[in-house]
Amino acid sequence: MNTSPTATQPRVAFLGLGHMGGPMAVNLVRAGVPVTGFDVVPAALEAARANGVTVVDSPQEAVRDAQVVITMFPSGRHVKDAYTGADGAQGLLAATPAGATFLDCSTINISEAQEVAQLARDAGFTAADAPVSGGVVGAQAGTLAFMVGAPDGVFREIHPLLDIMGARVVHCGDSGMGQAAKICNNMILGVSMVAVSEAFVLAEKLGLEHQAMYDVVSKASGQCWALTTNCPVPGPVPTSPANNDYQPGFGGALMSKDLNLAVTAIEQTGVTARMGQLAAEIYNEFSDGAGAGQDFSGIINTIREDSAGNR
Ligand code: NAD
Repeated sequence: MNTSPTATQPRVAFLGLGHMGGPMAVNLVRAGVPVTGFDVVPAALEAARANGVTVVDSPQEAVRDAQVVITMFPSGRHVKDAYTGADGAQGLLAATPAGATFLDCSTINISEAQEVAQLARDAGFTAADAPVSGGVVGAQAGTLAFMVGAPDGVFREIHPLLDIMGARVVHCGDSGMGQAAKICNNMILGVSMVAVSEAFVLAEKLGLEHQAMYDVVSKASGQCWALTTNCPVPGPVPTSPANNDYQPGFGGALMSKDLNLAVTAIEQTGVTARMGQLAAEIYNEFSDGAGAGQDFSGIINTIREDSAGNR
């Protein structure tokens, strides 16, 4: 594989080759970007290697000559530990050559995103947060939506790379604003999925057919993504996870995580957001139980079960 630098394609280090990061790194490679990848899980490394990513044995080796360092980790703690070094290991900030840009695509707290961006700037780098929506299917197809928090110049610099991995790239403001957009969007999504699911269970109890309710609401003021794309009952939208026993989709645990990030932001700002907080409680319970391995639209089954004994 040719990993020599080109005028247009920066050398990328990609850390975190999991469900999302793995296919994102592969799409960069397919577009001719020289990518060196690392993950702490050997199976993730192997899968990336099998799909053309040059993989190495340590994060320090991955960033050794990187111009852009992309991270795609489970949480803000992982990002901060990787940037600064944990357990005595050298952090990415210390191991990366001067002039590089740090691009974190993980979904993390707004304050954590601002903190790690500041750490990168203090070390002489530029930084951006660019969380995504679109799930594993979007990561594989290169159709993710990127929500970017970065100064204008950094945004312009990373835009071509994001265009390779995504279909939509929105500059949301300075550091942390990508995370802010992501968290606000997913709070709407969590609340609306609970509302759509409650409405379907109410319709069932009232004797209204799923399809009839769908035909009305999908063209009326209740229309939303949770109904028309990720419909929580099988039938009306054949591609929704409900038609496949709520597999695979956007997991209940990920929805719970994102709603908890929203609750942190709600508490930090003092906003009255009772629906968002309630949705977090509902999804925390769901992901601790049946929802751990299900698409988040599986919440309808919990609502139906909870309603079964009532009247
Ligand atoms: P994942 O757990 O599949 O992948 C994360 C990877 O990071 C794992 O392979 C893990 O081994 C690796 N990792 C952790 N610490 C590391 C370190 N120090 N160095 C190298 N690798 C390390 O998670 P995912 O589903 O790919 O999600 C990644 C991020 O994207 C999360 O923040 C998630 O909230 C967000 N996200 C996920 C989805 C989705 O549908 N899965 C959708 C949108 C956003």
